Amino acid sequence: MPFTSLGLSAPLLSAVNQYVTPTPVQSAAIPVVLKGGDVLATAQTGSGKTMAFVLPLLQRWLAAPLEKPRRVHALILVPTRELAAQVTETVLRCAVHLPERIKVVSAFGGVSINPQMMALRGGADFVIATPGRLLDLVDHNALHLDHVAALVLDEADRMLDLGFADELARVLALLPMRRQNLLFSATFPDAIHSLAQKLLHEPTRIEVETAPTEMPVIEQRAIEVDEDQRTPLLRHLIKTEGWKRVLVFVAKQYSAEHVADKLRRSGISAVAFHGDLSQGARSQALAAFKDSQIHVLVATDLAGRGLDIVQLPVVVNYDLPRSAVDYTHRIGRTGRAGEAGLAVSFITAAAHAHFCLIEKRHHLTIPREHIPGFEPQDEAPQPSSTGGIKGRRKSKKDKLREAAARQS
Ligand code: AMP
Repeated sequence: MPFTSLGLSAPLLSAVNQYVTPTPVQSAAIPVVLKGGDVLATAQTGSGKTMAFVLPLLQRWLAAPLEKPRRVHALILVPTRELAAQVTETVLRCAVHLPERIKVVSAFGGVSINPQMMALRGGADFVIATPGRLLDLVDHNALHLDHVAALVLDEADRMLDLGFADELARVLALLPMRRQNLLFSATFPDAIHSLAQKLLHEPTRIEVETAPTEMPVIEQRAIEVDEDQRTPLLRHLIKTEGWKRVLVFVAKQYSAEHVADKLRRSGISAVAFHGDLSQGARSQALAAFKDSQIHVLVATDLAGRGLDIVQLPVVVNYDLPRSAVDYTHRIGRTGRAGEAGLAVSFITAAAHAHFCLIEKRHHLTIPREHIPGFEPQDEAPQPSSTGGIKGRRKSKKDKLREAAARQS
């Protein structure tokens, strides 16, 4: 199905003329949103979901009577500042050929509120915000939400994961009753179902099979390695395989700093990227990574989610993700929009069982590799009779308990 059959006007079509066809979520959502309908979509980052709501909402905004001062027409709520920045960029990119000048303001925490208050003077047409900062702005009387015609919840599951449920409820109470609602979420836990039930009016349900269609363009490798050999192995692979831009996922902020530091010491330009960094430091790191001044970004899941770096060639799971869904999110950073990508997972003995579960969920069997010089020596932990966490290494306490049991 071509873009031209979706009902979009010429200025919006010219904003997407670099793409051959709409993605499945775009084909399904655009006609519904254009008609003013509510949408409940399962869609992951990388599915083209942002343009699936941005393009039709721009068209509806254009058709609505222009008001001065501007009143917020579309409110897009997102879980993180990175996603706020990306969605804002997409709105501006899609709006370049529109006959009217649109005013887009993004608002997120972690930076001073004053410039955002200034930006909202005279109103705004589209506001892209994290829920907490949006409420701060409302409390400061910097914006009013009583004319919002369309509400988008983007990455709604992550928003609830991050504990934004109360803020979300407060925001919803400030919106007019009659409005269009679009909910995009990668996963559908119970909390999202009940949110959808409260929020949406006869929604069109869109489910896009992201995993099977996206995975084949991503080469997935699984390398078995000892825990303490992961950084040397990473260094080795970056050098021998000539990786230029690598996103490395770790489990903790501390590991992000530690791994980045180790890489820098061996002459590889690397930066840690996690939620504790100031907004300035994050933007700087991201810009340097995009410009290829930095070769390796070592990120935690939260910071890494939503990172939209076109043609990111390599993603490394230094620590495995907690869930199969997070695995898809992580490797979805590479191989975007039809580009081939490489996703490498480091499998330590302790994480072996967990990786098998991830494979099972995705119906995958990824052959295990050993890299000469980095062959694993550690053994997989035995399942503990004391009922420890699956795949966890035995703690000192566990070992002492076992020794005591053997002696008694
Ligand atoms: P998203 O799922 O919104 O994060 O988008 C993921 C990526 O897909 C972005 O880099 C977009 O530029 C790209 N993209 C969006 N629509 C299309 C399309 N129809 N064809 C190819 N790439 C697209």
